[in-house]
Amino acid sequence: MFKIKNHAVKESFKTAYITEQNYQELYQESINNPDAFWAEQAKVHLHWFSPWEKVYQGDFAQGDVAWFVGGKLNVTYNCIDRHLPTKANQTAIIWEADEPGQSLIITYQMLHDHVCRMANVLKEQGVKKGDRVCIYMPMIPEAAYAMLACARIGAIHSVVFGGFSPESLKERILDADCSVVITADEGVRGGKFIPLKQNTDAALEHCPDVHSVIVIKRNGGNIAWKAGRDIWYHELAAKVASSCPPETMDAEDPLFILYTSGSTGKPKGVLHTTGGYLLQATMSFKYIFDYQPGEVYWCTADVGWVTGHSYIIYGPLANGATTLMFEGVPTYPTPARCWEVVDKHNVNIFYTAPTAIRALMAQGREFVSNTSRKSLRLLGTVGEPINPEAWEWYYHVVGDGRCPIVDTWWQTETGAILISPFPGASTLKPGSATKPFFGVKPALVDNNGQLVEGPGSGNLVITGSWPSQIRTVYGNHQRMLDTYFSTYPGYYFTGDGARRDEDGDYWITGRVDDVLNVSGHRMGTAEVESALVLHDAVAEAAVVGYPHEIKGQGIYAFISPMHDIEPSPQLEAELRSFVTKEIGPIAKPDILHWTPALPKTRSGKIMRRILRKIACNEFDSLGDTTTLADPSVMETLIKNRQT
Ligand code: ATP
Ligand code: MG
Repeated sequence: MFKIKNHAVKESFKTAYITEQNYQELYQESINNPDAFWAEQAKVHLHWFSPWEKVYQGDFAQGDVAWFVGGKLNVTYNCIDRHLPTKANQTAIIWEADEPGQSLIITYQMLHDHVCRMANVLKEQGVKKGDRVCIYMPMIPEAAYAMLACARIGAIHSVVFGGFSPESLKERILDADCSVVITADEGVRGGKFIPLKQNTDAALEHCPDVHSVIVIKRNGGNIAWKAGRDIWYHELAAKVASSCPPETMDAEDPLFILYTSGSTGKPKGVLHTTGGYLLQATMSFKYIFDYQPGEVYWCTADVGWVTGHSYIIYGPLANGATTLMFEGVPTYPTPARCWEVVDKHNVNIFYTAPTAIRALMAQGREFVSNTSRKSLRLLGTVGEPINPEAWEWYYHVVGDGRCPIVDTWWQTETGAILISPFPGASTLKPGSATKPFFGVKPALVDNNGQLVEGPGSGNLVITGSWPSQIRTVYGNHQRMLDTYFSTYPGYYFTGDGARRDEDGDYWITGRVDDVLNVSGHRMGTAEVESALVLHDAVAEAAVVGYPHEIKGQGIYAFISPMHDIEPSPQLEAELRSFVTKEIGPIAKPDILHWTPALPKTRSGKIMRRILRKIACNEFDSLGDTTTLADPSVMETLIKNRQT
């Protein structure tokens, strides 16, 4: 196995917050003495209006965990006000528009004023503590202001990704029972306009409880207007004060609701609260990205996903960092865009998803090598298992072999990163998320719930609570208990499968629902896919099982070729023997299906549950397809199903 030892080459990580020496010590302390550990961290990292009475209470069976019980704080006080004495003129947000050449700098003082104005506008619309506000926005600074404005006054935000359809928006507004929507006239992404206001109008035909729609003018597009309901943000913002006192919130008051990506089924409205969530977002950002004062950090996620919540907005701002918000997509106007933005703003830390890395890798390396990227110090990835091939490309081509990669495993439900390397402490292994964060006790259990000891594979569970844990599925507490706490009683069940190696490092092997069972051999999808992606002709691969008379399950592989590759029977034979060589004959795909695109969620994850239905010829029970980024991909795959 290829390992990269602690980047001895990398001078700048010698002085990292977390080093080989203190990781073990701190981790042991966090596990042996969790209350004392978290109390200390909460004091160091956050400002509290008044202290808590108890660090932790509750249990998994009831799903009633609470952290920092009785403590009072405000998220925006922590993300903005406390930085003002020293950082009023420091950049809080760098905004890079879809169109190259346009960007904005927002200092902490400006952020304060914008957030307060938006908070005052919300108050004028009658929004009170505990009310739900839907945010359906493009990636513009006002999306950040909107989230923070809610947090300022204690309203609960529910951000819906701006790429969702009116139908999906409607479902989420109704499910969270929102009374106000904040949107923009139009979004701009990859040179295309997205009719956000028009989508909102369509959604709201079925949402009688929404009384106000606050509209940001992004593009000046022609939009319909409903008097008495619709309000131009800039008109109201000009009339309100630029200060607004932060509401005093209980540590367990809800901060936001966020729907999961919908990779495995109908999205769940995950509810996070104030104190524990903010603490873990803040701490993990600082330690995992080793954020040093003055650095520029860029996470390419959208604020519509949890990564955008914890690692574009809350984690970075609570640390007084400079966070870059990008309106566009990595391939517009060319696949060099990310690296051009890195050079333009001297980005030091870059965090993206395997789907973006694979897409850029398929375009060839010239787009990367023509840029400098010398400001980069650290790279990160999240969202899916990263194929070792993509990891190597990211490390060598993007990072020039200089920058450690943190492969961060976590979920909407976990609120913050739970398994990840620390750049100054860990031995990196391409494809492994390595070790748990402080206070996190991962474990593997077999299908009977028995603990797997030592090296081995199993269902990934978490033993014991952590501060940024999901508190409930909004409006359906039973669904939370059923989904996460009843499969393996006493544990939080992640839904993911994993392998633990002889060093105790974790490798996520895919969703357990997707596990392949070929002639009695259980295999994770990630292993077979990574073997396929290793081949030079393959850009991306997704494998699923289908009924097979002899083997029980056969392997059906959907494959996207590199941009300059023509599939042929010879190439197929080569791929089969390639997988046989890499893993063994048991993993050899039975069916190969070439496709220019794979069905993905709007957050960019491969949706294997749909591919499984296609492979099994179950076209009329595809399940919830509303979270698909491009439904036409699915239709083409059905038409071209291979036998
Ligand atoms: P749904 O829960 O609605 O099916 P989802 O699980 O895709 O959707 P998210 O919460 O956005 O929604 O994603 C979390 C999942 O993403 C994890 O459970 C895991 O499967 C995958 N994941 C995230 N980061 C990593 C990583 N670094 N390595 C492997 N898998 C990852
Ligand atoms: Mg999930």
